[in-house]
Amino acid sequence: NTRVLLAERPVNRAPVESDFRVERGAMPEPGEGEVLIRNLFLSLDPYMRGRMSAAKSYAEPVAIGGVMAGEAVGRVVSSRHPGCQPGDLVLAHTGWQEYAAVPGERVTKVDPDLAQPSHYLGVLGMPGMTAYCALLYLGEPQPGQTVLVSAASGAVGQVVGQIAKIRGCRVVGVAGSDEKVAYVRDELGFDAALNYKKPDGSPKDFEALSQEIAALCPDGINIYFDNVGGLVHDAALANIAQFGRIIVCGTISVYNELEKQDIGRRWMRQLLVKRARMEGFLVFDHAHRTEEFRQTMAAWLREGRIVFREDVAEGIEAAPRAFIGMLSGANRGKQLVRTGQE
Ligand code: NDP
Repeated sequence: NTRVLLAERPVNRAPVESDFRVERGAMPEPGEGEVLIRNLFLSLDPYMRGRMSAAKSYAEPVAIGGVMAGEAVGRVVSSRHPGCQPGDLVLAHTGWQEYAAVPGERVTKVDPDLAQPSHYLGVLGMPGMTAYCALLYLGEPQPGQTVLVSAASGAVGQVVGQIAKIRGCRVVGVAGSDEKVAYVRDELGFDAALNYKKPDGSPKDFEALSQEIAALCPDGINIYFDNVGGLVHDAALANIAQFGRIIVCGTISVYNELEKQDIGRRWMRQLLVKRARMEGFLVFDHAHRTEEFRQTMAAWLREGRIVFREDVAEGIEAAPRAFIGMLSGANRGKQLVRTGQE
């Protein structure tokens, strides 16, 4: 059983491969009430950067020497829990490893007829549900409104934009490369998109970005779906419409500065002048909407109204590199790792 452990905490810097240790361990033995799972796909998500840090957050950090936290889809190999049978396809918090023994009551069975297994980690899983609940329940989008979404081509962003289109909104995406901009505009049907980086890869300055957003959102932004914080957040807030809403879903642009104080100058005057509302979002608060989300999203997928791009790295050993790449924008869609073949 190959697994990935946390070797070192990156403090106020980007993670590097030596912060992880890939190790071959013994095959886990399921105890009473547990199931042994062979993982097929492991999900790599930005929140895991937070788990590498000891800074206070909504969840406990991974211990040094502990298996990196993460969700996976896999097959039950053997079961000591009455609710699971060998061969069942399940979703579980197994961590970054090929096999895991997990309590049966914490395993969710997934229906392969509804969607391909990997989708349960993306469009039909936590990122898709984040997009769905945050946009619809916090954003309350109305037809004709303008929605701006950052990290627009990523796991959450690509779904946000497509749901906003279904709801009759005008959708503008912000992403970090011309290729990603073309993807959301030409393949996902966003009305417009822009690259927040210059051709040399460095971020544009605030004025330039703010003006570009203004040109693409001439009536202002009614809903800003913020996946990134920082520069793009400031430039979006400068263009917020009256009674606009800012959904703070992620702040990935500062995930390498978690040990610093989250204080400083903010555009609060802009909130006041526009009577805008800014609200933090956490997907766990919406657990009661899981079934509604799954059924609605599965129908949209079946009808071809939502499409979803995945970026699959091969083999558990590739997880640290793929994770580091995803944090800096190397991913093309939802980042996954294939940890086993069917
Ligand atoms: P993505 O698939 O979007 O991957 C992360 C992307 O972030 C990168 O591809 C990159 O895209 C972008 N990015 C990285 N650094 C910066 C930067 N400095 N400025 C702007 N963009 C940057 O990840 P997810 O869709 O899984 O997650 C998106 C966000 O949503 C994250 O912040 C995550 O923490 C958050 N999230 C929050 C949840 C909640 O419950 N609150 C649940 C799930 C996700 P690009 O090339 O465009 O820069």
